[in-house]
Amino acid sequence: MVVDYAIVGLKFSTQDATKTAKAAEVLHGTGSMSQQVPSLPIFPTLIEALRSARYVVVLTGAGISAESSIPTFRDAQTGLWAKYSPQELATPQAFRRNPKLVWEWYAWRRELVAQAKPNPGHLALAELEQLVPLFTLITQNVDGLHQRAGSRNVIELHGSLRETYCLSCAREYIAPDVPEGLPPACGCGGVLKPNTVLFGEQLPAAALNQAMAASVSCSAMLVIGTSAAVQPAASLPYLAQQHGARTVEINPEKSLQGADFFLQEKAGTGLETILAEVKKILPRTPAI
Ligand SMILES: [Zn+2]
Repeated sequence: MVVDYAIVGLKFSTQDATKTAKAAEVLHGTGSMSQQVPSLPIFPTLIEALRSARYVVVLTGAGISAESSIPTFRDAQTGLWAKYSPQELATPQAFRRNPKLVWEWYAWRRELVAQAKPNPGHLALAELEQLVPLFTLITQNVDGLHQRAGSRNVIELHGSLRETYCLSCAREYIAPDVPEGLPPACGCGGVLKPNTVLFGEQLPAAALNQAMAASVSCSAMLVIGTSAAVQPAASLPYLAQQHGARTVEINPEKSLQGADFFLQEKAGTGLETILAEVKKILPRTPAI
């Protein structure tokens, strides 16, 4: 497949040197996923930034899951669920009011996830983890596809579809060991709730603290498939920037301000290409 790529944004760096410090290097692609690693031109400085990074942190969002045909949160309210508003399905009040309905919605989402497979973007991140000394993957996704792809050090900011807990005694049940029933009941008689963050709920404190600690410590951060618009996850790339990390955005549409590099691509295509380039200038001692 011939793909027409254009490098844009370079005019900035030649015309006004004072702006280059904040102007992202931008790669602009119009290609789609292909079976072979595409010959996307990647700035050597980007690859060098990754190669020399002691600690790489990745932040992923719905975009990477969408490439495995997992509907985004908004899209998850299509079909059977189109008649319900988020307030009827995805808030604590909705769960208290009608836990059976919310559980049915989760069961449907679980089924979609069970049928989905990790895509080249997930697989590339799992491989990258093996190539850099320190690596943390922070995800806003609840589908577990990063772990299924082989990623090990994963922080799930919005919880997980696999996990449930009892609203009465806090006992955890992990799929597939979740009791039957809609809603399922704990051994103590309490109602089980999926362990995903609903609108209006706080993010799990431990996960958020780990994500913030990783963001201030990393030397490079990749931001992939997320508009980085929802706080507090949206602040993590800026936290990394403030602490000296190089930031790389891979997205169809630019959303991150002040990123050092912007790759206008889908996650799968962008990550496969970056991984291939990084591997050319490694091997490096695998992470312990
Ligand atoms: Zn219980």
